Amino acid sequence: MNENVIKLIKDYADVNNVPIMTDSGMRFLLRYIQNHKIKNILEIGTAIGYSAIMMCTVNPDIVVTTIERDEKRYLESIKNVKKVGLEKRINLIYNDALDVRVDDKYDLIFIDAAKAQSQKFFERFENNLVEGGTIITDNMKFHGLVDKEPEEIASRNLRQLVRKVKDYTAFLKGNTRFETEFIDVGDGLAISVKNS
Ligand code: SAH
Ligand code: MG
Repeated sequence: MNENVIKLIKDYADVNNVPIMTDSGMRFLLRYIQNHKIKNILEIGTAIGYSAIMMCTVNPDIVVTTIERDEKRYLESIKNVKKVGLEKRINLIYNDALDVRVDDKYDLIFIDAAKAQSQKFFERFENNLVEGGTIITDNMKFHGLVDKEPEEIASRNLRQLVRKVKDYTAFLKGNTRFETEFIDVGDGLAISVKNS
């Protein structure tokens, strides 16, 4: 993998305010993929392809299908995937994930898109998970906002988004088909393993 290209992708994300995964979140994710011998991955929220490309670096058997609804980011992800020569292993889908149907089964589903919609993505794609597979959700801390009192958050819109993330946390805790662990790394990850 070309370290320089990765650096350029991260710089682009920085300059253009693309919310890619933090380094610590990414390290955790890559280790998880390695330790659990994950091969087939579905990602919701490609952005510019950074996390999809990084996940492929764990080993040469990994394949990723990833969905992005923003045209500019999707086009940028095509360029980046070409630059690192991963066209055969990363399948880029340009659409709203809530309108996408996939037929395959995945070892890992990585939810990293609109925070308020995480539960919808979970429910839409959970049947595409193999028995014993994992759904990992990013941004469970919502940049620290979930730990604030509602009165401390000025905008009503933002308060509603925070509520949705909290509701999703409660949904995961109460979901008996999955065993969920919350990890305080990066912006907060939820690791939900499907009971087999
Ligand atoms: N996983 C990426 C970062 C994703 S940022 C990385 O770490 O490199 C979240 C992305 O999800 C944004 O680009 C946003 O456009 C996309 N997104 C949000 N809601 C979506 C939806 N409903 N369908 C598809 N993409 C969505
Ligand atoms: Mg994220």
